[in-house]
Amino acid sequence: MLHTLVLATRNKGKIVEFRRILDALAPGEINLVGVDEFADLVDVEETGSTFEENALLKARYTADATGFPSISDDSGLCVDALDGDPGIYSARWAGTHGNDQANLEKILFQLKEIPDEKRTAHFTCVAALALPDGRHHVEEGLFLGRILHAPVGENGFGYDPIFAPQGMSISSAQMSAEAKDLISHRGKALRAIAPHVITMLRSLG
Ligand code: IMP
Repeated sequence: MLHTLVLATRNKGKIVEFRRILDALAPGEINLVGVDEFADLVDVEETGSTFEENALLKARYTADATGFPSISDDSGLCVDALDGDPGIYSARWAGTHGNDQANLEKILFQLKEIPDEKRTAHFTCVAALALPDGRHHVEEGLFLGRILHAPVGENGFGYDPIFAPQGMSISSAQMSAEAKDLISHRGKALRAIAPHVITMLRSLG
């Protein structure tokens, strides 16, 4: 049976990535669609104080509004020398939502005096599944690394140009999308939640 699953995002890249992971585990079983397919869905405000709360908020709202099982993810960069900031505020750290260049420049400025050994950081991603019947499930993925002294690389988005994955001398903006997926917070969270998505969808009959 073909199950419809709504991904609570307007980001086409995320839809492609998650479709690839689900298709490998349950070929032809899941019809994954983005929220753009539903004309009058508004974007839910991320009022939670953790990645988990925000991911669940988006998945629950989307499941209730569409009547279909829904999945969402919430992610961000946590810098140890900044006590875990910008965390859930990663997308708007410099004030304006989604200004990647201003956000990463602010981090570089804040870490100006911080030596290499104290520039450790990680990306976190929480993936959440919500069913219209009230059930839910969450999984977390971490991507460890450190903050560089200047941006380098053209790939990826957000803080990728200033983030060097643990054990690597390049930034995640110098990796291919496929190589980053294998070790990234989002890749790990999506691969962790995928089997639960399939089990829960199959339980609906
Ligand atoms: P969202 O969960 O897609 O809303 O991401 C929140 C913010 O975290 C993004 O706007 C980026 O600034 C940052 N972020 C999350 N994942 C990544 C990543 O893989 N690379 C770089 N920045 C990221």
